[in-house]
Amino acid sequence: MTFSTLGLSAPILKAIAEKGYETPSPIQAEAIPAVLSGADVMAAAQTGTGKTAGFTLPILQKLIGGPKVRANQARVLVLTPTRELAAQVAESIETYGKHLSLTSMVVFGGVKINPQMIKLRKGVDILVATPGRLLDLHGQNAIRFNQIEVLVLDEADRMLDMGFMPDIRRLLALMPKKRQNLMFSATFSQPIRALAKTIVHQPVEISVAPANATAAKVKQWVCPVDKKRKSTVLTKLIHDNKWGQVLVFTRTKHGANRLTKELEAAHIMATAIHGNKSQGARTRALAEFKRGEVQVLVATDIAARGLDIDLLPHVVNFDLPNVAADYVHRIGRTARAGAEGEAVSLVSVDEFDELADIERLINQILPRETLDGFEPLHVLPVSSLTSRPPRKPKPKQSSNKGRRSGGADKRRDASAGPKKKRPARKSGNRGASAGAAGAKAGGGARRK
Ligand code: AMP
Repeated sequence: MTFSTLGLSAPILKAIAEKGYETPSPIQAEAIPAVLSGADVMAAAQTGTGKTAGFTLPILQKLIGGPKVRANQARVLVLTPTRELAAQVAESIETYGKHLSLTSMVVFGGVKINPQMIKLRKGVDILVATPGRLLDLHGQNAIRFNQIEVLVLDEADRMLDMGFMPDIRRLLALMPKKRQNLMFSATFSQPIRALAKTIVHQPVEISVAPANATAAKVKQWVCPVDKKRKSTVLTKLIHDNKWGQVLVFTRTKHGANRLTKELEAAHIMATAIHGNKSQGARTRALAEFKRGEVQVLVATDIAARGLDIDLLPHVVNFDLPNVAADYVHRIGRTARAGAEGEAVSLVSVDEFDELADIERLINQILPRETLDGFEPLHVLPVSSLTSRPPRKPKPKQSSNKGRRSGGADKRRDASAGPKKKRPARKSGNRGASAGAAGAKAGGGARRK
């Protein structure tokens, strides 16, 4: 299949070719005709599948030759949970629409509202926005929604997680009833389906990856390590493997700042991106990382959501996420659009519960590989994929407070089995199946 068979016109096809895309990704092959047909669409697609072009391309096509947008109005509204994602969607619209005369604009909080108000006076064909700032702009009469033809909710699951539902409901009440609705979400959970009922009507349902599946091409592995040695192990992995561009996740803002300092002390160029940083600082950090001027970007989950970094080869979970679904989002940063990637989780024994939740969610025991000289004091147990009831997420800060004396250690004796050593393997040779077999045998490999 090629893009030209999907009903897109020459200026859009030209922009796609210039971007270097040859074939539509599976989500694009399904979503583009569905959106062009005018149907509502509900798509389960993770970041990295090409979903942005999946809705952007047909929207641009639909707008060509339509009515002129009026002052302080928009014809298409794309809502995203984070500023970074909003900026990236807007960038995609600019890229794919560069040979068209349509206008687009992005608005989010954390920057001055006045320039946004001035720019909206003329109206804009496609407006990308985070919900809070959009409501502020509406409150100041800078935007009205009478002319909306298409509404897109991007990463709807994340919007729910981040508590945006009241804002979204307020916005929905302001929109014309007759409009096309497109909803994208990493998974179709029950709450997402409940939300969808209030937004989409007789939608075309598209699902390109099984719900909660991790990106197939990501080589995932776990490096068991004592908590206090994590930053040394990370430094060693970066130095020894000559990792050039690494996205590292910490659970807290404080943890991100501290790790950044430790990496810099080890002569690794690092910068942090989290909610306490100004929008300007976050945008700058991301741009430096994308240009390769910064080797390591240390991020918290919310700050990293939706980051689109082409061909990012390495993701490190310095702390495991509190919510298992975030693991899937995190590792979705690598192996994007068909490329290969590697995701390593540095796991201390107090994080066993989180690891077990993740392994149950992705239905896979992740291969364990200790680093020579950094074997943890306590062996990380191997979880059972079925036997434990789901765990309530811990309060946010608890992971940084040292090892708990509870269940993880006790379970270790029952389930760990003998610790087997495997010869160290070269990076890039770590197939998930081989690793899973090792893990199932109760042991783990070791790296030099
Ligand atoms: P997304 O899932 O929308 O965040 O897109 C993930 C990445 O895939 C982005 O870097 C896009 O530039 C890239 N991409 C999107 N569509 C294609 C395509 N058809 N062929 C190659 N790369 C693509």
